Amino acid sequence: MSEKTAFPLTLDTPLQYVKGVGPLIAQRLAKLNLHTAGDLLRHYPRRWEDRTLFAHAAQLRGGEFVTLCGLPLSVSTTQPRPGLSLTKALLDDQGAAVMLVWFNQPYMEQVFRKLITAKHPVVVYGQAKRSGMIVEIQNPEWEPLDETGDSLSSGRITPVYPATEGITQARLRRLTDHVLRECLPLIDEPLPPELRQRYRLIELREALQNIHYPTTFEALDAARRRLVFEEFFFMQLYLALQRHKLHTNSQGIRFHVSLEKLHQSLQAILPFPLTKAQQRAIAEIASDMSSGHLMNRLVQGDVGSGKTMVALAAILMTVQNGYQAALMAPTEILAQQHAIVLQRLLAPLDLRVELAIGSLSKREKQEVYERLRTGESLIAVGTHALIQEEVGFARLGLAIIDEQHRFGVLQRRALSRKGDQPHVLVMTATPIPRTLTLTLYGDLDVSVLDELPPGRKPITTHWRSRSKREQVYAAAERLLSDGRQAYIVCPLIEESEKLEAQSAAKLYDYIANKVYPHRRVGLLHGQMPPSEKEQVMLRFKAHELDVLVSTTVIEVGIDVPNASIIIIEDADRFGLAQLHQLRGRVGRGEYPSYCILLADPKTPEGKARMEIMVKTCDGFRIADEDLQLRGPGEFLGTKQSGLPNLHIADLLADRDVLVETRAAAFELVKQDPTLSSPQHRALREALQRLHTHLELASVS
Ligand code: ADP
Ligand code: MG
Repeated sequence: MSEKTAFPLTLDTPLQYVKGVGPLIAQRLAKLNLHTAGDLLRHYPRRWEDRTLFAHAAQLRGGEFVTLCGLPLSVSTTQPRPGLSLTKALLDDQGAAVMLVWFNQPYMEQVFRKLITAKHPVVVYGQAKRSGMIVEIQNPEWEPLDETGDSLSSGRITPVYPATEGITQARLRRLTDHVLRECLPLIDEPLPPELRQRYRLIELREALQNIHYPTTFEALDAARRRLVFEEFFFMQLYLALQRHKLHTNSQGIRFHVSLEKLHQSLQAILPFPLTKAQQRAIAEIASDMSSGHLMNRLVQGDVGSGKTMVALAAILMTVQNGYQAALMAPTEILAQQHAIVLQRLLAPLDLRVELAIGSLSKREKQEVYERLRTGESLIAVGTHALIQEEVGFARLGLAIIDEQHRFGVLQRRALSRKGDQPHVLVMTATPIPRTLTLTLYGDLDVSVLDELPPGRKPITTHWRSRSKREQVYAAAERLLSDGRQAYIVCPLIEESEKLEAQSAAKLYDYIANKVYPHRRVGLLHGQMPPSEKEQVMLRFKAHELDVLVSTTVIEVGIDVPNASIIIIEDADRFGLAQLHQLRGRVGRGEYPSYCILLADPKTPEGKARMEIMVKTCDGFRIADEDLQLRGPGEFLGTKQSGLPNLHIADLLADRDVLVETRAAAFELVKQDPTLSSPQHRALREALQRLHTHLELASVS
C-alpha cells in the first residue's frame, strides 16, 4: 500500500495526498482554488442534470433539455463558409438517430473518432431539436459513459462542476464522492439547533451530501437553502459583530434634541412640508445623535428625494448643540449650490455658511479657515478643500458626505478626522440595490428616502437613433419656445477629459450656430476654470441661458427646476446609474419633463440597457436590472467593495434568504454579542476560520 492511504483523510488534507490525486492533478485542481479535501466539499456543482432517466431520441418532440445515451457511429467536419466549421457526430440511440453539432471545434472530430473505434457509448446533455427523423443537439455537454456504468454520472441527479483543463467532470465526481465518504463524519454543525429549527435548515452533513449527490430535487432544494443561508449568515454575523463593536466601543457626542422643536424650526424656514420619508430619516438621525453613541448613518434616496433637507436637519441639530457641521460634496458646482441653498434657509437663524472650495483666493481661504478654526462659523460646505491640511475645526460635531460614492474611504475618514469623533452622515443617490446595501453597508445604519416630494411630474424617456437627432432638436425647440430650458449632454470620453472638452466645444458650436442660433446657449465642461463653470451654471439657473451643452459635470445634484428636457448624446456609452443621475437633472419642477437617449447600441445588452431606462424611472429598479445585467463584481466596479466571495448564494435570486439571515444574525449578536455561550462554540469557531480565510479583522 502506498503511504497515501496510511493517513486518514481529514478536511485539511492537501489534495495531493487524496487517493487518485498526484502532484499534477493537484496542480490543476489548484487552478480551481481547490487545495484541501475540505475545499472539494465546498466546490459546489454549478448545475445538476436529471439523469435519473435517459430520454429516448425516438420519443422527443424537440425543445426539451434531455440526457441521452448513444453509440457514436460517424463523425465529419465541413466548412460551409470561411471562418465557420461544423463538426457533426451521428449517434445511435436504440435505433433512433441523434446528431451532435459543434461550431468551430474541429478537434471534436478526433475525439469522436477514438470513441467510434472503441465502440464507446457517450452520455449527452443538451436541448433537443427535431428535424424530421433526426434529433439534433448543438454544442452538447457530453462525456463518455463510464464502462462500469458509473453510478455517479448516470442514473441519478448528476452534479456538473465548474471545471478546468485536464480535470474531467467524472474525476471531480469521483473525488467529491470519495471525500464525502471519508470526511462527512468529521464535519461539525456550526449552526445552533434553535436557529436551524426556526429557519427550517437541514444539518450541514446532510446538506453537503445532497448538494453533490441529491437523491431528489426536493433534497437538493433543502441542501441548497441550508448552504445559501449559511453563507449569507456568516457574512451578516460578521457585519453584526462589527456593528455591535462600533456601537458599544464608540462614545459619541450626546446631543440634546427635541424633535418637536426641530420640526418647528424646520417648518419655519422651509417653503414646503417635509415628506414622510424625510421626517423618518430625520427622526432616525435625531435618535442616533442623542444616543451617546457615534452615529454612522447612510441616507439613501433616489435623485430628487430631498436628501439636502435631511442634511439641513442634521446640521441644525448640531449647531443648536453648539457644535460645528461640515458637508463635503464631490464637485465645486454642487458645493456651491448646497452653500447657496443652506445659506438662504439658515440666514433667518443668523447662521453663516462657509464655502470652502479650491477656487477661492488665498485670502478668502485664510478668512474662511480662520472662522472655522476659532469656531466663529458653525457650518462649512465644501469640496475636498475641506480635508486639506490647513483646515481645522474648533469642535466638529457632524461630518456629512454627499454623494458618497464619489469619494474614497480615505477621503471620508479624513473629514471625520477633522474632529474628535464627530457623528457621520453619508448620503448617496447611487441607487444601490437593496440587497447590496445589506452586504456593503451592513455596518452602517441606513435611512431610505423612498418617496419623492409631491407634485413631481414623471419624466418621459425616449430612445432614438442618432440619425433622428434633428427631429429631437425640433421637439426640444417647442419646449424652449414655451419658456423651458434644455440640457444637451455630450458623449462620454472616459480616457481624456481634454478630448471630452474638445468634443463638447464642437457640439456647442454646432448647437449654438446651426441648431439654435436664435437661443442663448452655454457650454460647461470639466476643463473650464471653476469660476467660469460657476458663472455658466448660475446663468443657466437664472434662465439667462436656454440651452446648456455640457459634459457629465452636471451629473450630480444640480437643481434647475425650469429645465424640462435633457438630451443625452451617445447614451449607450454611459452606465445605467449615470444615465439615471443625468435624467434626474430634469423633472425637478412643475413641468412635464423628457429625457431623450440618442444611441445606436450594437449589443443586445446595450439595447436592453436603453430599454430599461425607457421603461422605468425608479432608481432602485434600474440598479437591480443593472446588477442583473452586469453581475455584482462589475456593478461595484472594483474589488474594493470588500464583498466576500459567494460560492453558492446569489445576491439577486436569494435576496429573501439574505434578509432572513440579516435578522437572524443581528438577533443572535444582540443575545450573545461575544458568541461565548457554549451553544455558539461551533459557530464561533467556524466564523473565525472563515475570517482568516477572508482576511477580515478578528472578532474579539
Ligand atoms: P437629492 O436627494 O437629489 O439631493 P435635493 O435635496 O436636491 O434632492 O432636492 C431636490 C429638490 O426637491 C430641491 O429643489 C428641493 O428644494 C426639493 N424638495 C426637497 N424636499 C422637498 C419637500 N419635502 N417638498 C417639496 N420639495 C422638496
Ligand atoms: Mg443631492
